[in-house]
Amino acid sequence: MLVYTHPDHRLHDPAEPHRFGGVLLPPAETAARADRILSALTRLEAVDVACPPPVDERDLLLVHEPEYLEFLRTAHDRWRAATGAPADGEAVAYIRPLPGIPGRPPTHVDAQLGLYSNDVDPILEGTWPAALSAAASAVAAAGAVHGGHDAAYALSRPPGHHAGPATFGGYCYLNNTALAAAWLAARGARVAILDVDTHHGNGTQAVFWNRGDVLTISIHGDPEVHFPFFSGFPEERGDGAGSGANLNIPLPSGSRWPVYRSALEEAIGAVSSFGAEVLVVALGVDTHVTDGVLALTDEDYPLLGQALRSGLPTVIVQEGGYGEGVLEQAVPAVLAAFA
Ligand SMILES: [Zn+2]
Repeated sequence: MLVYTHPDHRLHDPAEPHRFGGVLLPPAETAARADRILSALTRLEAVDVACPPPVDERDLLLVHEPEYLEFLRTAHDRWRAATGAPADGEAVAYIRPLPGIPGRPPTHVDAQLGLYSNDVDPILEGTWPAALSAAASAVAAAGAVHGGHDAAYALSRPPGHHAGPATFGGYCYLNNTALAAAWLAARGARVAILDVDTHHGNGTQAVFWNRGDVLTISIHGDPEVHFPFFSGFPEERGDGAGSGANLNIPLPSGSRWPVYRSALEEAIGAVSSFGAEVLVVALGVDTHVTDGVLALTDEDYPLLGQALRSGLPTVIVQEGGYGEGVLEQAVPAVLAAFA
């Protein structure tokens, strides 16, 4: 298995705690995640680890709005200039526009933090180069598959599937999975995305909502009671040319492997009916029982790896997964069984 990863991911390593459930918790999406995965992968046989070349920033426009990219690139410097914050300060939104109230596009960085984010994630001094490095891994993996490899894995972090065309959130800044898919679609491929992270791939859905050349499928915990709450329901099927090309399969909290396997079978059937020529898998392993949404166990991840073998060339992009011991066990188990 070809593995792409870039050390610049470490430039984005949030340290400030998040308030969750009434208490302050340390951040879950840290640089240690990718290092833990990589160290576990190097113990597998037939793993070929490579550092991707820099991403062509014009490719980011396949997925994101130019104003948003300019914001991400400059936000931390501008925030420091506006506030006097130190270099290791973490810029977080504290104001958002009132819905339905007319206003002009904001120019102040504090207002733009609220405009371009949809939760409480920070922008750090190194967020932009780290996000670029994650995108580079995804594009390199797509390029390898486009060039004839059966499969490639992008160990991208920060993750991407909650990033919309002009929003960051859910630990995601650039949508690596959407970028891999859009990059392949731009080269004429009919692409399906299968998101198996435990949370709805809301950013990916938003990117392709009006497109009929990329099928987006997400299997996730019921958004009525789980992040990202505002989307992920079965009635969301896409619009315009994309009508029917978005499939959400929400599962009840605590669903175990038999329920999950049925959802996977439905998803792979939809990939086949769509006539996809290449598959992009958004691989989150926060489906593990210890993450409290769905209830897969260590024994289920090899089965997941086998179930993802659709017969199509496949790009696998890392999304979520956090628990101590879970990343190290589940990611290698999926990739080994897939290969
Ligand atoms: Zn997730």
